[in-house]
Amino acid sequence: MTERAIREQDSRKITGDDTTLWRPHRRAVLAGLGAAIALPRLQAYAATAPVTHKVGAIEVSIVSDGVLNIPLSFQLPDTPLAEAGALFKAHGLPEGGAPSQTNVVLVKTGGERILIDAGSGPNFQPTAGKLQENLEAAGIAPDSITKVVFTHGHADHLWGVIDDFGDSDRFPNASYVMSAAEWDFWTHPDTPARVPDALKGMAAGTGRILKTIEKKVERRKDGDSVGPGLSYLATPGHTPGHMAVLVENGGQRLVVGGDVLTNSAISFARPDWRIGADLDRDQGIATRKRLLDQLTNDRIPLIGFHIAWPGLGTVERSGPAYRFIPL
Ligand SMILES: [Zn+2]
Repeated sequence: MTERAIREQDSRKITGDDTTLWRPHRRAVLAGLGAAIALPRLQAYAATAPVTHKVGAIEVSIVSDGVLNIPLSFQLPDTPLAEAGALFKAHGLPEGGAPSQTNVVLVKTGGERILIDAGSGPNFQPTAGKLQENLEAAGIAPDSITKVVFTHGHADHLWGVIDDFGDSDRFPNASYVMSAAEWDFWTHPDTPARVPDALKGMAAGTGRILKTIEKKVERRKDGDSVGPGLSYLATPGHTPGHMAVLVENGGQRLVVGGDVLTNSAISFARPDWRIGADLDRDQGIATRKRLLDQLTNDRIPLIGFHIAWPGLGTVERSGPAYRFIPL
């Protein structure tokens, strides 16, 4: 994507009346996924080049899966929108919020090429599902990926693991890693009935995809190694088994935070705001504050999946809260 295209997307305001989130996309219904899907205006899409960062000898690249349009009223169900708008304005952002980036991470470590999350594929929102295109434009073939490590089971992180026809692996030579708690939650037969209405289609779709890849999935827990120099860091709340990934090499560290910190203004200035997409919103707040403390105390850089492209930065204390400093 060109810088101009990014600026144009970032300047678009997201309001309840210019998106129709949570209405099933016809193609998703045909694919049996029936998810919470938007039908925003189609936009021309140009490839986004990856951004690369070193953690010791490990090469960490951020690869875009495109953008998502999610109404502010869904993101912040308990916050007056005028209050959120004032916070965005104070941070130089559009008052109605901006499209959400989807920053997938590719780690080259110990001879492996490991993806952290797989994007959403074609059946979630038409502005997303661009991961394969962006990998190939950067000369990275899908069959060269050796492993996919999931932070959690939401559509925008997992559904892209299946190809555009919905029946085979997009990364045919990869094994998969997911937290055991996350696996148990999304594969439990009662989960689609237990989650809020807006997530029922997603739960059914994720459960179906996990069944198709089941034989290749390794289940891991907090602190376990998930690759050379990579380990899981339990960060529940957004989902029951949500995991961040700690990257460590040569005395340097970095956290790939998944969906613990999702917005460069809200997540840092108001970590106490309840987030609509968190399944356990109070646990989400506690986890967010704990991770912010750890990132500031230990001076560890962060990559946030939905933070403005490329989502890489450091965290500082700012008054009673925090601020995100892009690197
Ligand atoms: Zn997400």
